[in-house]
Amino acid sequence: MTTTTGQTEIVELADGVFARMHEGLTNAGILVGDDGVLVIDSLRVPSFARDLIKDVRRLSDKPIRYVIDTHGHWDHAFGNQEFPDSIIVGHVNCRRELEELGEAWRENVIARGNEWAEELRTVDIRPPSLTFDSRLELHFGGRRVDLVYLGRAHTSGDLFVHLPDDGVVFTGDVAQDGGVPYMLDGYMRDWIETDARLMDLPFERFVSGHGPIGEKPALAEAREFMAALVSGTEEAVRDGKDVAAAGEAVTAAMQERFGGWRGFARLTEGVGRAYREIARA
Ligand SMILES: [Zn+2]
Repeated sequence: MTTTTGQTEIVELADGVFARMHEGLTNAGILVGDDGVLVIDSLRVPSFARDLIKDVRRLSDKPIRYVIDTHGHWDHAFGNQEFPDSIIVGHVNCRRELEELGEAWRENVIARGNEWAEELRTVDIRPPSLTFDSRLELHFGGRRVDLVYLGRAHTSGDLFVHLPDDGVVFTGDVAQDGGVPYMLDGYMRDWIETDARLMDLPFERFVSGHGPIGEKPALAEAREFMAALVSGTEEAVRDGKDVAAAGEAVTAAMQERFGGWRGFARLTEGVGRAYREIARA
């Protein structure tokens, strides 16, 4: 089933498994079980969360029992307050980041200036109330839902929602199909290893926090992107380049293969992040 509601599109991936795609913004997931609903990511501000809930109600009138935060970033988790009767689930580091960095993240986003700044000021940041360290298996409506932590990557608290019987995984912002993620809160070298462990999960399709639904080979490319960024930055450091020159060198080296990806202009931010990580080591 594919329905279009405003700018969002609901795609059914398996019986009761839906991706809610929002082009140019943030995707979410909706799982409908026998006696409840599970939502993956509460989105950026309360009004977005309420629109998401409206879409849930088009699919099911069952209570929303769980909200899973793929990680703590504002555009994924700042709608949590709209789910007061649901259990908010996240990685233990996601909770810690929201507690320690949530306010700074909010100020950062407001300072960058965007159309949600005013509503962002009103957000009551609600970290996950149920956390786990490495893995949590939910048996939800006759389906297995594995919440898996595979190491630091886009943040220190990224989880994957793996549906082993459906061949689907929700990847949050760790990997996109043909898109460069935001990297300024990332752990660049760990990210490559986390991507490799993600590749080891059995699945065919993935729903990313941004961009289209991808198939597994696109994840291999996403990993190669990170590996090229990090190895290019390491080489620039060895050559004694400063961070600006490193950004130029890595951009030149990666332009041909990855220049057409969404958000390619973020590459220099990622090189800066990797550069500082390497210089500290
Ligand atoms: Zn993010």
